[in-house]
Amino acid sequence: MRLKDKVCLITGAASGIGRAASLLFSKEGAIVVACDLSSELLEKLKGDNPGPGVIETYVLNVTDRERIKEVVSEVIEKFGKIDVLVNNAGITRDSLLQRMSEEAWDAVINVNLKGVFNMTQAVAPHMLRAGKGSIINTSSVVGVYGNIGQTNYAATKAGVIGMTKTWAKELSRKGAQIRVNAVAPGFIKTPMTDKVPEKIVEAMEEKTPLKRMGLPEEVAYVYLFLASDESSYVTGQVIGVDGGLTI
Ligand code: NAD
Repeated sequence: MRLKDKVCLITGAASGIGRAASLLFSKEGAIVVACDLSSELLEKLKGDNPGPGVIETYVLNVTDRERIKEVVSEVIEKFGKIDVLVNNAGITRDSLLQRMSEEAWDAVINVNLKGVFNMTQAVAPHMLRAGKGSIINTSSVVGVYGNIGQTNYAATKAGVIGMTKTWAKELSRKGAQIRVNAVAPGFIKTPMTDKVPEKIVEAMEEKTPLKRMGLPEEVAYVYLFLASDESSYVTGQVIGVDGGLTI
């Protein structure tokens, strides 16, 4: 019960890594505030709750600042606090630089970068008031090393690292025990990577020392460590979960 009674808000909670984290956090006794776009997938998540924690679901788009305010105040009213924020929601709209539309650029920036800003700006005041909290941002190996066809995505995932380090300094400056860390997954088997052609998957697996894709649960366990008090002296870090791809 490493998260007993901790209120943990997770974005992009209905699929892939976010879903694995929601289920794992509940197993560890958390009150999971699961936010995502799809009410059907959120209902399924709730139905699959292994317990003993609670999974509360909210339809929330991380680009919608009004809705974020509404959800955060409902959660504060109901549970009195938010201990953990996992900024996990993310999208890809890949193409080579010359072919990338402005719309594809804007869409990815709005969700992956501005969405993280929107969520953290709404939640941070409550953590500051409590004098503690853990914020976990989902970056990517692509944010550190770049990737062909992912100008927009790489920009957001690098930006997330900049925000992580900034907030680790800024939110703790009056002595608050607010920790902010980023997780940089490598190639993880989720609906996001299901669309990657088999040939590319094989090449990535070959390049990865562990010779396979990661599982969503393998990222969720690192989220769990960062959410729990076991990581109480870890802040401002970027933790790779990539099977050794980046060594
Ligand atoms: P996924 O597509 O399975 O899940 C992403 C979830 O985010 C979906 O449920 C989707 O509905 C939700 N979402 C999308 N836009 C949203 C919005 N505007 N507001 C709220 N929710 C929104 O993808 P995943 O692989 O589980 O990705 C989770 C995170 O991990 C993302 O930030 C992704 O960039 C990152 N990541 C994934 C990989 C990988 O290989 N899968 C690698 C590195 C980083």
